[in-house]
Amino acid sequence: MTELVNIYCPECDTEVHAHFLNRPTTLFVRGEQVSYSETVAVCPICGEIIGDARIEGVNLERAYSVYRTRHGILSPDEVKSLRISYGLSLREFSRFLGFGEQTTYRYEHGDIPDQSHNTTMLSAKTIHGARLLLTQNRQKLNSRSIARIEQRLQTMADGTTEQSRHHLALEDREADEPSAANGYRRLNLDRVAALIYELTSRCRDLYWTKLQKALFFVDMICYERYSCSLTGLSYAHATFGPVMDRKDEVRFILVDRGIIGFRECGWGEILVPLQHSTQPFNTEEIELINEVANFVNSFSSASELSDFSHGLSCWTGSADGEIIEYTLNDGEVEGAMLERMSRLPC
Ligand SMILES: [Zn+2]
Repeated sequence: MTELVNIYCPECDTEVHAHFLNRPTTLFVRGEQVSYSETVAVCPICGEIIGDARIEGVNLERAYSVYRTRHGILSPDEVKSLRISYGLSLREFSRFLGFGEQTTYRYEHGDIPDQSHNTTMLSAKTIHGARLLLTQNRQKLNSRSIARIEQRLQTMADGTTEQSRHHLALEDREADEPSAANGYRRLNLDRVAALIYELTSRCRDLYWTKLQKALFFVDMICYERYSCSLTGLSYAHATFGPVMDRKDEVRFILVDRGIIGFRECGWGEILVPLQHSTQPFNTEEIELINEVANFVNSFSSASELSDFSHGLSCWTGSADGEIIEYTLNDGEVEGAMLERMSRLPC
């Protein structure tokens, strides 16, 4: 407990030296219950909690922060740095995004963006999304702002020579014949993109490393059930678990196409679903994706999920850096998942 000097206690009708106390509590944010730790000031004389606008502001911000993380919503600082990256004023940035004039101001000062505004801001980070926004809202902007946005688009486009290099690296793989390395399906980037989008929409706190494991489980179990993987991805044995082959190229292309975004969070980046129009999966495949998402959500941390994967024989049967062949999996991956899920309370 830290001392807080000079606060007025209405109960004692005098100024007291109150103490701060942290306690777990819940708050409804946008109709959803959020658990967080709040700080309260306690009167040393009567023991009552003293309300104080400054502390309440901090507490509210903590609850909002928990809610933002859960839903992949941009923080006030992220909104501001996005605006700065375009060099736009608050008003012009709002117009560029197609929002009301005061909206960006509110988001930079702590209001929680609604889901569709959040999606719009995340797509403004991508070249594809930004171009679309400029086309839609061009007539609302002054010529100086248009010039600034176009300059920013040019800077983003300069990065796209990199894109063709990544595409080439994947086209190599797409040409590979079905084999034990790709689960007897040719790599299909559209299916990879759709699966990552679906998992990102369903899994809580989906870090990039955690995604690797989720993909691995979907493909391995699909192989067990239907003798063919879902995506045609190959997985390599890395120190902390299975990772998809050519993961950096896949990541680059998904971000570039505006399918997913990333949000800085603690020690890593959490994936945020943006947009995906084609959905290539059948009912059984969607059911499988749901099962694996529930399974992934049953772990409280990425490392707990890592530990789980390390017990599997297709893991222990492969060496560091090697491709984990689908044929190493003799039905145990699905068995292990179902066994875990059956032990969890509903
Ligand atoms: Zn008191």
